[in-house]
Amino acid sequence: MHEISNGEILGALRELNARRVLIQTPEGLKREAQSLADFLEENGIEAIISGDINYGACDPADREARLLGCDALIHLGHSYMRLNLEVPTIFVPAFAKVDVVPSLEKNLDEIKKLGEKIALVTTAQHIHQLERAREFLEKEGFEVVFGRGDSRVSWPGQVLGCNFSAAKVEAEGVLFIGAGYFHPLGVALATKKPTLAVNPYSGDAIWMNKEVEHLVRKRWAQIAKAMDTKKFGVITSTKKGQLRLAEAKRVVELLREHGKYARLIAMNHISYPALEGFDFDAYVVVACPRVPIDDYENWRKPVLTPRELELLLGLTEEYEFDEIAGAERKDDEPSGISVKR
Ligand code: SF4
Repeated sequence: MHEISNGEILGALRELNARRVLIQTPEGLKREAQSLADFLEENGIEAIISGDINYGACDPADREARLLGCDALIHLGHSYMRLNLEVPTIFVPAFAKVDVVPSLEKNLDEIKKLGEKIALVTTAQHIHQLERAREFLEKEGFEVVFGRGDSRVSWPGQVLGCNFSAAKVEAEGVLFIGAGYFHPLGVALATKKPTLAVNPYSGDAIWMNKEVEHLVRKRWAQIAKAMDTKKFGVITSTKKGQLRLAEAKRVVELLREHGKYARLIAMNHISYPALEGFDFDAYVVVACPRVPIDDYENWRKPVLTPRELELLLGLTEEYEFDEIAGAERKDDEPSGISVKR
C-alpha cells in the first residue's frame, strides 16, 4: 500500500556516517520498520525499532535516539516538520499507491457544486498526486488553487489534523482528497467554506458541512457538561511538536481570572486512565486537538480544547477548531525523504 525506499534511506544514512539508528514508526508501518531494520543490518548499520506509539511528525523520538547512542533517527510515515531535533532525523513519508483520479472522475457532479474556483488539499499520503489531481480538474474547467502552508507542513496543499494553513486560500469551496473524517472536518471548520471530501480508496464523496454541525453539537455537549465545574486540569504535552506551554499558561491564567481552580499538568502520552487519581472536574488539553475531539468518549470527565474553554467562559460565541499554527515556511525547507541535521 505504501512506498518506502530502503535504498534512499541507506544512502541518506551513509551520508551521515550513521552506524546505529533508531527507527520510529506509526502503527500501520510496523512490518515495514522491521524489514527496514533487517535491510540496514545486512548493510552494516545497527538498527533499533522504537516500540512506542507514534501519531505524527509532531512526536519525533530524537531524545530517545540520543539516549540510545544512535547517530540518527528514521521517522517513518510522516513528512518533515520544523522542530529543534537532537540527532539528525530522516523523515520518510509513506505515499499511498491508490490512484486519486478515478474517485475525482466519479464525483465530478458533486465537485462542480463547490464552484469554479476551488481549493485543493490532501494529506501527506496523497500529496504526490496533488499535481495530477490539479491537472485533471483544470481540464474539467476548474480553477484550482492551494496554499503554501506554514512550517508545520512539508508541501503546498498539505493539511494535518492540527493545521489547515494550506486550505486558507481564496476559493469558493474546498476539495479534500483522502480517507477519514478528522482532516476534512478540520478543513471545513477552519475555512468555513463548503467542503467536499473525496475518498480515493472507496470512491465515496462526503459533504463535510453536515458533519461539522454534528461535531459542533457534540462539542457543545462537552462544554455544557463542564459549565459548572470548578477544578480544571490544564494539560500540556511534552511531545516536541505539540508543546504549547505559553498557550497552556494562558489557559491557566484565564481560568483563574474567572474564579476557577486550575493546575498545569505536563504529559507525554495524554490519556484519561493516567489522570484518574487527580481531583479535577474537567480538563483542557493544550496539545494535539485530536485528543479532546477524537478520544473524549474514553474520558470520564469533560475534556475541552482551549477554544472551547473560551466559549464556556463566554469570551467568544463562534465555535472554532483548535489549530496549531506554525511559523512562515522557508523556501529551502525540506520535503519528501528529507534529512534534518
Ligand atoms: S499534533 Fe496531532 S494532528 Fe497535529 S501532527 Fe501531531 S498527531 Fe497529527
